[in-house]
Amino acid sequence: MSIIFADAWLITMNERREVLESASVCVEKDRIVAVSTRRDLEKRFPAAEIVDCKGRIVMPGMVNTHTHLFQTLMKGLGDDMVLKKWFTCMTGPSSVHLTPEDAHAAALHGCVESIRSGVTTLVDFMYVHTRPGMIKAVVEAFDETGMRGFVCRGFISLGEEYGVPRELIEKPEQAIGDARKQMRRYNKPGARVQVGVAPNMIWAVDEKGYRLTRKLADEEHALITTHLAETTFELETAKSRYGQTDTEFLSEIGFLGPDVLAAHCVHCKAHDIRILKHHNTKVAHNPCSNLYLASGCPPIPEMLMAGVTVGLASDGPASSNNHSLFQAMKFAALMQKGFHQDATILTAEKVMELATIDGARAVGLEKEIGSIEAGKKADLIVIDFNNAFMTPIHHPVSAIVYSALGNEVTTVMIDGRFVMRDGVVNSVNEAAVRRQAQISADDLARRSGSDKFKKRPWRSMAI
Ligand SMILES: [Zn+2]
Repeated sequence: MSIIFADAWLITMNERREVLESASVCVEKDRIVAVSTRRDLEKRFPAAEIVDCKGRIVMPGMVNTHTHLFQTLMKGLGDDMVLKKWFTCMTGPSSVHLTPEDAHAAALHGCVESIRSGVTTLVDFMYVHTRPGMIKAVVEAFDETGMRGFVCRGFISLGEEYGVPRELIEKPEQAIGDARKQMRRYNKPGARVQVGVAPNMIWAVDEKGYRLTRKLADEEHALITTHLAETTFELETAKSRYGQTDTEFLSEIGFLGPDVLAAHCVHCKAHDIRILKHHNTKVAHNPCSNLYLASGCPPIPEMLMAGVTVGLASDGPASSNNHSLFQAMKFAALMQKGFHQDATILTAEKVMELATIDGARAVGLEKEIGSIEAGKKADLIVIDFNNAFMTPIHHPVSAIVYSALGNEVTTVMIDGRFVMRDGVVNSVNEAAVRRQAQISADDLARRSGSDKFKKRPWRSMAI
């Protein structure tokens, strides 16, 4: 069965970055087979179903390179807090009480939210393993919604002195053993969902944890993701423990490599950036989270100038409050312009690359996804620009990055399957998913005591 997305304003993200007016895309099974005119494709694929895309933009599905899906249940509970309090009073206790059922409800909701805002590939960083079955719960949510991506088996091996709840701390051998088990279970060649491994951050993982992670990734050929240089606290701990930055230390012990996706890198200096480039380590940029938690403005232009691959991300909704990459695109551009007082420093076109083809490169899937070209996987989205926010329209990339709200996505195809069509999510029952997520969110807040933040007093002034 072939499908032709016909007469679209097509943002290809191919090598030449062609933006084509009135172009058509033909999909067969899970692959894009041709990009041409409607007339030509109708002739070549006479039995194809036609999806009329007049007045619509078609573009590659976006890649969200960093989130913690379970935090979907914690939206809004950690607003306006300094990071330490955010973690010790809200995110930490909520994590301790999380069950696999909660993780599943949260992941389903997070995947639906992502589909609705045009994301077709997600990297989930799951570091809560207080009970068995957390990875399975998230993988199943990917399976049910049709999402593509990586479920990374995270872990924390120390940090009680910094307020990490004891229940979240695991022995590295045990965490790595479990990660290996999950990889062997799920990582079949070409699988839409893969398991990766995710040591949390420099002050929460010991050297042994990083070394075992590297060994595991080498043996299983799996993706590694980790938090890097997110806050000044990470830099301070790295300095006092190892006498260097976390980037320098991880380079020195042989941890960094092209299979490492480092989230944040807010406080990476020129030397750290050179190290990232040297190892071809990739970066997941989380503009909304970095601003929400007041972590700072990462040196993205410097990384891009140095040739480091950067993908875009939302981060967990406990620190960005949704999974919208539309918001991430706009914030990514605006934060750099404001910070550098230079309107040219990050363009709409570059931000579109971060969200698509560069994100694909960041997770090692640039040959499969990230652009609309014959031979690639059929991961694409349709955006209806006939609304007051996106019109009058002159330039589709500008309209998407700066004008769109994100809810203009009407149709989403992942791996050749319509997971949303004409505004209706059809891989799962969205109403039931949202209902269950609210029940789980309320119950988790009550059990963990973070429901006190639901009834917070009005705070007009700093607290
Ligand atoms: Zn994170």
